[in-house]
Amino acid sequence: MNMNEPIGSPAAEATLPGRILIVDDQRPNLQALYAAFNADHKVYMATSGEQALAVCGAQLPDIVLLDVEMPGMDGYEVCRRLKEQEATCNIPVIFITAHSNEAAETHGLEVGAVDFISKPINPSIVRARVKTHLTLKRQSDLLRQWVYIDGLTRVCNRRGFDERLAMEWGRAVRQGTPLSVVLVDVDLFKRYNDRYGHQAGDDCLRRVACALKVALKRPADLVARYGGEEFVCLLPETDAAGAHVCGEALRENVLKEKIDHADSTVATVVTISLGVATAWGSATVGAAGLVQCADSALYTAKCKGRNRVWSEVLAAE
Ligand code: GH3
Ligand code: MG
Ligand code: MG
Ligand code: MG
Repeated sequence: MNMNEPIGSPAAEATLPGRILIVDDQRPNLQALYAAFNADHKVYMATSGEQALAVCGAQLPDIVLLDVEMPGMDGYEVCRRLKEQEATCNIPVIFITAHSNEAAETHGLEVGAVDFISKPINPSIVRARVKTHLTLKRQSDLLRQWVYIDGLTRVCNRRGFDERLAMEWGRAVRQGTPLSVVLVDVDLFKRYNDRYGHQAGDDCLRRVACALKVALKRPADLVARYGGEEFVCLLPETDAAGAHVCGEALRENVLKEKIDHADSTVATVVTISLGVATAWGSATVGAAGLVQCADSALYTAKCKGRNRVWSEVLAAE
């Protein structure tokens, strides 16, 4: 999931056509299911278990209608493998099979299928069941996304940042690439709240979050609310010089918002201070050390007068 992407409303999501993968080794079965869904869905087709896994990995369909009996890898094995992989484990699987005995159905549900439909299919029943499972899938996708979103500012939350940081740190170590973290703190924000009220303070935080997001250009860059009036940016594959430039862009973009702050001693508008830290994947400090380093850089930026960027580089390259 790209946590910088806006999140759709449930109503809007519900009207999206589903993307369905149909898997069956018999052409007439494929054609019957294709005819049932082609008018209002995006339909992919596969004629073997191996092909089904490849399509799932590449297309991440919203649902899979899966035959059990196929030469080579059977449907149970396909389902088991889909459920094992993080990327595909949330794709609902419906078995569509000529085996309509209890043992086969139980086995199908045990390996992770959400439903079991007997052949020959009745198109309106299959359509109705698929519709139900597509709706459930969309709702759970949305819930999963909301777990990582800060309610006030709609940027990524602390939990999302922590998970992405761990992932990006691992990648930086594997690839020997630099990783930068920028901690952002709104200057004299207590005074802002005291002067303009808490509601205006909340609005200010929303505008700052938005200005930070707009300032970062790379798709892999992440802006998150770290807590209170602090934000954090994660910049993969960005060295110290690049991260400092990003820090300046963030600072200037917030300045450009021109949010009045009459009680600030730094400027007449809201400003931010930024602590930038960069580590190379080989550094032994760990991800937590990188954030700590950004925190001490932020402290320096505050001490030096606020409304500025301070950068530190961790360990030898
Ligand atoms: P400094 O320049 O040293 O950072 O000064 P500051 O006033 O920003 O720092 P301090 O940590 O003393 O105050 C932070 C303030 O941020 C206090 C708190 O009321 C406010 N704050 C934290 N979270 C929120 C929030 O969600 N909404 C609003 N409106 N205010 C918040
Ligand atoms: Mg078959
Ligand atoms: Mg603070
Ligand atoms: Mg502050």
